[in-house]
Amino acid sequence: MYFCRHIVLVVFAFLGFGLNLFAQQVKFDPTKYPQNYFRYPLDSAVNLVSPFGSLRDNHFHSGSDLRTNGREGLVVYAAADAYVSRIKIQRNGYGKAVYLTHPNGYSTVYGHLQKFYGPLATFIHNYQYQNKTFEFDLIFDKKTLWLKKGDTLGFSGNSGSSTGPHVHYEIRDAKTEKIINPAFFGVLPFDTLKPQINQLHLYNFVTDGLLLHKKLVLNPKQFSQYDSVWVYKDTLVLPANTYGLGIEAVDYIHNTKDAKHVYAYALSFQQKEVFNHTLNSFAFDEGKYINTHIDFPYFKIEDKRIQKCFLDDGNFFSSYTYNVTKGKCELKFGDTSNWTIKVWDVNGNCSVYAFPFRAIAANPNQTELLKYKANIANKRKLLPLQSNKVNMLGFQARVEPNDIYDTIFYDAQMLDPKPYTLANIYQFHHYKTPLHKSIDIGIKSDTVLSALQSKLLLGYAPEKPENFRAMGGKFEEGWVRGKAANFGYYTILADTIPPSLQQVLINTPSDQTDTLTWNFITKDNLSGISTFHAYLNGEWILLDFDAKNNLLTYRFDQVYEKRKAFYQQLRLTTNEELCFDVQLKVADNKGNLAEKFFSIPFF
Ligand SMILES: [Zn+2]
Repeated sequence: MYFCRHIVLVVFAFLGFGLNLFAQQVKFDPTKYPQNYFRYPLDSAVNLVSPFGSLRDNHFHSGSDLRTNGREGLVVYAAADAYVSRIKIQRNGYGKAVYLTHPNGYSTVYGHLQKFYGPLATFIHNYQYQNKTFEFDLIFDKKTLWLKKGDTLGFSGNSGSSTGPHVHYEIRDAKTEKIINPAFFGVLPFDTLKPQINQLHLYNFVTDGLLLHKKLVLNPKQFSQYDSVWVYKDTLVLPANTYGLGIEAVDYIHNTKDAKHVYAYALSFQQKEVFNHTLNSFAFDEGKYINTHIDFPYFKIEDKRIQKCFLDDGNFFSSYTYNVTKGKCELKFGDTSNWTIKVWDVNGNCSVYAFPFRAIAANPNQTELLKYKANIANKRKLLPLQSNKVNMLGFQARVEPNDIYDTIFYDAQMLDPKPYTLANIYQFHHYKTPLHKSIDIGIKSDTVLSALQSKLLLGYAPEKPENFRAMGGKFEEGWVRGKAANFGYYTILADTIPPSLQQVLINTPSDQTDTLTWNFITKDNLSGISTFHAYLNGEWILLDFDAKNNLLTYRFDQVYEKRKAFYQQLRLTTNEELCFDVQLKVADNKGNLAEKFFSIPFF
């Protein structure tokens, strides 16, 4: 007990001495970025639902989500003079999105819009009718369409994969397309609240591919505060070994109640910074590194994200700086010191935590290690930087360099088919181990009917060999081949059922800028919706597709307005009740086509 107190006092003395070390402020230099060049794209003050780099499923958030107070239809403005450089409209992802390129070398992106406005809206509408498509992705040069700072682009919405109304806003380097933290350009809410560490986790690197994990529940009463440093009162007594640290950290912004993620954190060991993660900028395709940045298995089990203070061999995310050991700390017998972890928000608010430790003799016979060694004794391994092939009877998998983050001792087995599967079921490792890129999977098919062969696809189930969902893929020379985004269970399924079609009434436009609509629900059992078309009295009309709600929507636009006048005239002359004849044709990805006529009363 006395010994522990003594250590704390030593730590305190050291911290008092070295406070300059912790006075380090926020990492970006505002003079490097133009200030006041970009206006905030909404009428409100800066208010974020989710800041740049937030930790998401399978990606770091690539922009800032601007709050629209749960509403759609707010005016969205061009942040600065620009030409329209890209329009991308899709059923998921950013939904209705526009990209602007500005003369100062940056571009801005506005996603999940409800609809567009002015010349931009006219251009899009004409393109969709000329090409008979809702979805498209077009790149433009500076000759096509210019907007002035403050011009209305369109209206905020909830389109694409958005789970609630907001504007997804990005600022990118126009040349490299690297996404930059919009806070640097002034998208920065007022905030003086400091980020916090809620949990500390310890990882123990014992042998190849093994990470022993220990959660240290931190009791807030166990911290003493010395100036701006929180010192943990207990000394961590640890067997000599190599350790990595992980943190669960949160940040609160003044005007919101929900916890956000921290902008940066750094680990110091023996008074030197050994690991630093700072979310200044990253390339769009780097976002997937989230799966090695966090403790992925822990996330899959506990639904909580531990951010690691060390790197796996296959982690090449560009946000880090680190020492030669990549943040891993070797504790030798008798070492006493402390780990200090600093966490920042983007306003520069910082908290510093010190965790004193003492290393005792190593324990070569710990039970976890013995259990692990017995468990991997007969297993084959996948290596992260080489091409790995895995074969079972009727099953092939290929794991290419950089598809995985670390050495994996894998499990693989063949299981009996189920009544609804068209092949055996194969297990290839576990869904709790992350993949960086999709891997090639092939399963041999005995199906001889060529009509059925075109309907085959791979089925995937994460945890148990049941409730298989479509994974894509197709029949090629006796095999069904496709790409798997996760380890787990695989088999062959057939999709022979066309999508369902049903008209639904949604009679409350979401706000005054919205129009009346016709709405249809379409669902597909397996392979998913591919093409969708609607015809009004034989003429193609534009349907919006909102994949998350399985919703096809026809918005009463100018075309309708003309037609309405015509019908009104017709009704006056014939004095009959008239209906609109609407034909819907929706196909799935295996060529199963649903066709249905709807007679919709004129009102
Ligand atoms: Zn977003």
